[in-house]
Amino acid sequence: MGNYNITVLKGDGIGPDIVAEAMNVLEAVGKKYNHKFNFNEKLVGGAALDACGVPLPDDTLEACKNCDSILLGAVGGPKWDNLPSNMRPEAGALLRLRKELGLYANLRPAIIHKALSSASPIKPEIIGDSLDILVVRELTGGIYFGERGHREGKYGEEAYDVEAYSEFEVKRIAKTAFEAAMKRNKRVTSIDKSNVLESSKLWRKAVIEVAKDYPEVELDHMYVDNAAMQLVRNPKHFDVIVTSNIFGDIISDEASQITGSIGMLPSASLSDGAFGMYEPIHGSAPDIAGMDIANPIATILSAGMMLRYSFGLNAEADAIEAAVTEVLDAGYRTPDIYSEGTTKVGTKEMGRIISEKIK
Ligand code: NAD
Repeated sequence: MGNYNITVLKGDGIGPDIVAEAMNVLEAVGKKYNHKFNFNEKLVGGAALDACGVPLPDDTLEACKNCDSILLGAVGGPKWDNLPSNMRPEAGALLRLRKELGLYANLRPAIIHKALSSASPIKPEIIGDSLDILVVRELTGGIYFGERGHREGKYGEEAYDVEAYSEFEVKRIAKTAFEAAMKRNKRVTSIDKSNVLESSKLWRKAVIEVAKDYPEVELDHMYVDNAAMQLVRNPKHFDVIVTSNIFGDIISDEASQITGSIGMLPSASLSDGAFGMYEPIHGSAPDIAGMDIANPIATILSAGMMLRYSFGLNAEADAIEAAVTEVLDAGYRTPDIYSEGTTKVGTKEMGRIISEKIK
């Protein structure tokens, strides 16, 4: 029997509704497989701003530092959009959490379930009836964290942001990607711009070094402009993609759009060891908050990733994924993925049916 301490950050908008369903699913997994999940709920984002005047209160950060992993809903909303950027829910809470907790590896699976393959904007002859790509994005380095500033230039004011990567940072994220590939189809595509950028040349060299430790994994390299094309032209080429913070930001959004359903996609942000923060890729969807129509599946699958990557509970993670597939195959849909001939259900009902399947 395992005993796991999870800090729960429901956040704003649809966050509370979808996280509640992921917690119910974890309870069902706990009952069936004899584990105890201890949930410690803390405020984050707009909810924390309203209650304590800051987007990431100290006791929330403390709880995040002293637990086995974090389950997050989403933060943000129009009410807090006009605050200075360090006070806004996204920068003030999420970026800070990533940095403080050393969450340098962002894993974003882009999966198309067979039952939803018609939702993809890509032609059926290209996409087939399913797709399964894992984007591994470096999350705490590169241009988003590099030196930045303004200066006087030849033509007046200039602004700059520096893209810098150390060999250590690249090798660390490459290792994450190769380890993930070993559990999948043993293929890694490293995306860079090494025909132009010095930082990308180092990136490529370091990835090739790491590849030597994984002789079973097939490695190829792609320039980011070509990768953006290949993702829509021949998405089945990809198994695991590894790339920098900024390229990963763009490429992972493109990969998720190919699946056609934002409410279905989970993510994990990992540090060294088994610690991680798990959250859906979508935002707080203020337009549908509190209406019991948000799709909880992305958050439920994020909880599944937590079981797999932080707790090493692979059978339990498989059970969550299988339950989701079964429920979709049985025709249940929240409004965002509804099509004629299927059964429309709300957030709570979708969570309940998935939990039932696990029991
Ligand atoms: P969004 O992802 O919240 O919503 C985009 C669209 O997708 C909306 O129409 C929404 O209704 C729909 N949608 C999203 N999740 C859904 C779900 N689970 N089920 C059904 N429909 C869903 O993006 P946005 O509208 O650009 O941003 C809204 C707020 O969320 C903003 O304040 C933004 O800054 C914030 N945001 C937070 C995160 C995060 O917490 N990680 C990520 C992105 C955006």
